[in-house]
Amino acid sequence: MEQTLSIIKPDAVAKNVVGKILSRFEDAGLRIAATRKMQLSQADAEAFYAVHAERPFFKDLVEFMISGPVVVTVLEGDNAMAKNRDLMGATNPKEAEAGTIRADFAESIDANAVHGSDSVENATNEINFFFAQKEIC
Ligand code: GDP
Repeated sequence: MEQTLSIIKPDAVAKNVVGKILSRFEDAGLRIAATRKMQLSQADAEAFYAVHAERPFFKDLVEFMISGPVVVTVLEGDNAMAKNRDLMGATNPKEAEAGTIRADFAESIDANAVHGSDSVENATNEINFFFAQKEIC
């Protein structure tokens, strides 16, 4: 069974739509294998987004990700990675298809409600970044 990592970002947590977003995953047939609300440190956010370290928006991205708590979740199911990406919608919510999480809950490309792993290989690394094996069940 494929697994992927989702993060409900600080903007969506602040809007109090955690349950609504988790329901979308369940309604699409994905199972919550692990979940935790947490406050990322600057070091956590910099390490998690290290692949973007050279991008011009890196500093803003890290600042945003530590601006409030997040909810990190392991989703499990057939094609979990691609299915989650479909549910999320485009990175820029203004380009996101109607009915996607970003179209419905996000304001801007910075505050875009959710993160989702973009490959199965990245998903494994991102899951291991946040969760111990015994927490995933
Ligand atoms: P994702 O996989 O759809 O989340 O997109 P990426 O992996 O390309 O980018 C990671 C995150 O960086 C995005 O979710 C955005 O929050 C942020 N980001 C990406 N591109 C831009 C940009 O051009 N400007 C700003 N401010 N943030 C961006």
